[in-house]
Amino acid sequence: MATDLDIARAAKLLPIGEIAARAGIPDEALEPYGRYKAKIGLDFVAAQRERPQGALVLVTGISPTAAGEGKTTTTIGLGDALNALGTRTMICLREPSLGPCFGVKGGATGGGRAQVAPMEEINLHFTGDFHAITSANNLLAAMVDNHLYWGNELGLDARRIAWRRAVDMNDRALRSINAALGGVANGFPREDGFDITVASEVMAVFCLARDLDDLRARLGRIIVGQTRDGRNVTAHDLKADGAMAALLRDALAPNLVQTLDGSPALVHGGPFANIAHGCNSVMATRLGLRLADVVVTEAGFGADLGAEKFLDIKCRAAGLAPSACVVVATVRALKMHGGVAKSALGTEDVAAVKRGIANLARHVQNMQKFGLPVVVALNRFTGDTEAEIAAVRQAMAKLGTEAILCTHWGEGAAGAADLARAVQALVAGGSARFEPLYSDHLSLAGKIETVAREIYHAGGVAIPPPVAAKLRRFEEQGFGHVPVCIAKTQYSFSADPSLMGAPEGHVLPLREVRLSAGAGFVVAIAGEIMTMPGLPRHPAAESIGLDPQGRIEGLF
Ligand code: ADP
Ligand code: MG
Repeated sequence: MATDLDIARAAKLLPIGEIAARAGIPDEALEPYGRYKAKIGLDFVAAQRERPQGALVLVTGISPTAAGEGKTTTTIGLGDALNALGTRTMICLREPSLGPCFGVKGGATGGGRAQVAPMEEINLHFTGDFHAITSANNLLAAMVDNHLYWGNELGLDARRIAWRRAVDMNDRALRSINAALGGVANGFPREDGFDITVASEVMAVFCLARDLDDLRARLGRIIVGQTRDGRNVTAHDLKADGAMAALLRDALAPNLVQTLDGSPALVHGGPFANIAHGCNSVMATRLGLRLADVVVTEAGFGADLGAEKFLDIKCRAAGLAPSACVVVATVRALKMHGGVAKSALGTEDVAAVKRGIANLARHVQNMQKFGLPVVVALNRFTGDTEAEIAAVRQAMAKLGTEAILCTHWGEGAAGAADLARAVQALVAGGSARFEPLYSDHLSLAGKIETVAREIYHAGGVAIPPPVAAKLRRFEEQGFGHVPVCIAKTQYSFSADPSLMGAPEGHVLPLREVRLSAGAGFVVAIAGEIMTMPGLPRHPAAESIGLDPQGRIEGLF
């Protein structure tokens, strides 16, 4: 069977200038990176500001399982199908991280006949944005240690430095390190560590910035640590924000690529969906809305994590209001939510599908709480049976939601035509009344409790007294108005990854809270969350290499 890479390589791509012309981007606005990738000039982006906006369609999914769901694949298939029906559509996606690429999950350019291309380049170095973000992060880290070395004029307490180094790799050996060892010439020894680039605050800042000025202002607000008496020290205090912005300037221009079907796609920025807000840059989404009638975009993980943050953090920060929401599910994943082991997914099990639907139903109802009309995209895998598919359709019909069978993975745009027509109808119907889940004025603890109760269906939140005190301190410091970014496992509505389906009444255990003053949110960590993942025993990297012609093989 042809792999995603085989299909991608066999496709005849158009020069990026032709794709740009289709999207209404003139040649002089393009900064080509090779033949099939281009950045779109910041001047052109700024000049589009007054144009009318298209409709925003969010693609999200059920709680992820080892069976795979296909949100990216569906975002691309839906975009291609809308374009095929004559709706001018822009696809907006995150840039892949090297961590998952070489780890377990693989790349993030879609699959089958619904992919963005060139897949090897997008999945590996692309246009260098992540290298720029890593460099900006590490410049700040170098300036922190340099400040200590040269006399520590700001009085930073070496024990209270929160700023960590970053690298775009899964490398558990760097989670916790001792830095500046080796004597007087090397600085002041202290404990430090690395986060994967996609978990760094610079990534979140980059993705929420509206323009260069906003980027620099956010970078300046990043808190690197405290003085002995608890005063915050920022990147601006260290005079690092200007140089960080300089490193990021070119990266902030959105990247244009194409789908295998010739649709334009903006692939830009890529924060994690637990520790950060999990969707592509505000720059790309806002540009897409100015250029197209419909923007289709993906939020990471399940709707409890990625979509909630997309709506409560990104849409709030950028003044966006989605018109419709697509929740992606697969029969296989629903079976796993219904208790079936991965090894037994090949056998028909309608009862398990019906049990697993509880997970899907809750995500659908959660999205409706934001005032969004919802349609379910049932991403078909070859082994799905008619009875299993019918079970999903009937259960969704009872909730008043349409579940539409999609075969874009195997058939490309035609396989998502029904979904595209349903989305067109939701957009044209104009029934969306988007409202974030909570108001800016609610206390930080109140915001965490609201998400826990309304979205996770938790009975409550366990906030240890020192964590509650920290939240109050953030409020006293003037950060009470920001949204919360809850980091918990993606596998369950609860903080326990083994509780699949739709658990109720669990308690969300808050372990830690951190102020991301630059990004403009408070991260609330519930359970064990990795900001630096490790590689599995046999990482995908073992199977990636070059063939005799020097072409990359083994990426998926
Ligand atoms: P997500 O965005 O939800 O993480 P992706 O769209 O990246 O998921 O898909 C994950 C993997 O599953 C990809 O390798 C893709 O090729 C594969 N996949 C998606 N849909 C199907 C399908 N209908 N049949 C077989 N494989 C699929
Ligand atoms: Mg994805």
